[in-house]
Amino acid sequence: MTLNNYNFPTHVVSGAGARHELTPMLKSHGVTKVLLVTDKGVATLPFFGDIAETLKRDFAVEVYSGIEGNPLISHVTAGTETAKGFGGDAVVAVGGGAAMDVAKCIALMQHHPGQLLDYEDGKPDARPVDQVLPLIIALPTTAGTGSEVGRSAVVSEDATHIKRIIFDPKLLPVHVLMDPELTLGLPATITAWTGMDACSHLSEAFLAPGYHPQCDGIALEGLRLMSQALPKCVTGVMNHETSKTYVDARHDMLNAAMMGAVAFQKGLGAVHSCAHALSTVCDLHHGLANALMIPYVMHFNLRFAEGRMKTMAEAVNAAEKSGPGWVGWLQTMNKMVGIPSSLPEQGIEARHLDALVEVAIHDPCHQTNPGPVTAENFKDIFQQAFAGTMERAAT
Ligand SMILES: [Zn+2]
Repeated sequence: MTLNNYNFPTHVVSGAGARHELTPMLKSHGVTKVLLVTDKGVATLPFFGDIAETLKRDFAVEVYSGIEGNPLISHVTAGTETAKGFGGDAVVAVGGGAAMDVAKCIALMQHHPGQLLDYEDGKPDARPVDQVLPLIIALPTTAGTGSEVGRSAVVSEDATHIKRIIFDPKLLPVHVLMDPELTLGLPATITAWTGMDACSHLSEAFLAPGYHPQCDGIALEGLRLMSQALPKCVTGVMNHETSKTYVDARHDMLNAAMMGAVAFQKGLGAVHSCAHALSTVCDLHHGLANALMIPYVMHFNLRFAEGRMKTMAEAVNAAEKSGPGWVGWLQTMNKMVGIPSSLPEQGIEARHLDALVEVAIHDPCHQTNPGPVTAENFKDIFQQAFAGTMERAAT
């Protein structure tokens, strides 16, 4: 596979083996000390060891790998201590959305005073991001959040799991090395969950109100790519495939995830509000939460956006090219990649209903839902997801 260079929305090197560009890239910036940021799982994988060992030939290297599960403020605090003690001039994130977001925050806090939440997006008295950040380079190992091309980081408070957003253009990685070989060994579950997160970004962005033909075009092509690639990735990993078709599908998913993050500059919607509630209240994986909720929320949204859902049904070549056909396609895709069709199947109990509605209604994402969503609507949507009884919209 040849390496592709994009300069949109940042510098991206995309293709099998892209990770080997890391050393020359760091050298071109005159870097001498590299902080590698990853999660506990990735830290044990052979490719991570290889990346660290390769870097040690040319640079002083320190590793922060304390991230586990959803990204927490305590991860940022611990990583920042490591970063300040080490004094590196580059932060290289290797991992999924959690590692990526924590790495961005560590890069921010290395030379900025105070606490992370002093820089929270929208805070009236927020401190300015006015210091130089170390060079940020991202190597995604999942195809989901697209955080590698995002200018924000989402981290949760440790005690409450409430999500906080840090936003600044300086958080956008300067380089992204999008190497499908880093995702070949992802378990089928994480592949499916993160892939459906990307699907949620692409489709919610496409439905978000507002005139933005660039984002709309990117969203539709991203949906087409993911519709073909995600099932191949899930079955490929289960069959221990190493074929070019499998690597190509992984490459397509990385691109689809990146396109989702570009497209959702336009906005997200109520799927993400429900997912944020499930992560906050039940600590559910973000991608899995989106996957579980997307058919129910899209079914609700038919009343606002049936025409645009028909366009998405056409983009993914759904069996029925209609609004209900789009909802039916989502149910079929979930089934194909092993996502349960109701919340209790994932261990989420109905006693959480009120708390879920409470978090969802206060979540900002549904402000760009294609139509308004009330607390009563959220309650209905969650109740359907508990019962798993939404009528199948299409076959
Ligand atoms: Zn998401």
